[in-house]
Amino acid sequence: MSEFSDKRVLVTGASRGIGWGIARAFSEEGAKVALIDVNEELLEEKKGEIENMGGSALALNVDVCDREAVKKAVEKVIEEWGGIDVLVNNAGITRDRLFIRMTDGDWDSVIGVNLTGAYNMTKAVINHMLRQRSGVIVNISSVVGMTGNPGQVNYASSKAALIAFTKSLAKEVGSRNIRVVAIAPGFIATEMTEKLPDDVKKAYLERTALRRAGTPQDIANLVLFLSSDRASFITGQVYVIDGGMI
Ligand code: NAP
Repeated sequence: MSEFSDKRVLVTGASRGIGWGIARAFSEEGAKVALIDVNEELLEEKKGEIENMGGSALALNVDVCDREAVKKAVEKVIEEWGGIDVLVNNAGITRDRLFIRMTDGDWDSVIGVNLTGAYNMTKAVINHMLRQRSGVIVNISSVVGMTGNPGQVNYASSKAALIAFTKSLAKEVGSRNIRVVAIAPGFIATEMTEKLPDDVKKAYLERTALRRAGTPQDIANLVLFLSSDRASFITGQVYVIDGGMI
């Protein structure tokens, strides 16, 4: 029996890419998984996939920017399953453009989903974890939050802020046995990176020592480790997983 059997896990941006990889991996380990995403159709499909594999899932069609909807979704999960053990703040978007051409909308939407979305989710979950005196929060940042990247002032800022969020919150809630960690992936093959021009993809691969793109499963493996009891003395840290890019 896995240590995740019947653990209650919430993953945002869970209907595809890294979020789905994480949700599926938890489900394969016996966890109950609540999938949060804006893509209703895909969500229902993925919920069905988990149920076909014999797992339990909830599909919550929620925009992480919608604070009220987030609160209701978290209440629903707690009502159904009695609690939440792991929150993975994975939902994220890019609106890449050089800074001089970046619009206020490009800035607001990226900060809104990537940073404020994680704030909204964490705010909705934290009191419950504090009462429970246990919990793990995993924030999906990015290597560009550490290195910076041209064309991604908005995105890199949101991902750097998530690291500071992680380190600060970890110091506040550690005494209640709640761990908060961040993961900084490099170049991972998902729809987010599929839409990049070929020369940009080639350049990322050339900068990656292992000369391949990471997979959602690579990221899920690290999320599972960090959420497990094997990582019970780890908090407030950011883990780079980039095949040797930075
Ligand atoms: P993806 O393929 O674009 O998937 C992101 C998922 O999040 C989509 O299902 C998307 O739904 C959903 N989403 C977007 N906005 C949302 C919102 N407001 N509320 C709820 N769900 C929302 O991206 P990914 O590559 O898997 O990336 C996942 C995370 O890893 C992101 O935080 C990203 O920044 C980070 N990351 C990715 C890479 C990489 O190379 N791929 C590298 C470093 C970090 P819709 O498609 O319907 O909008």
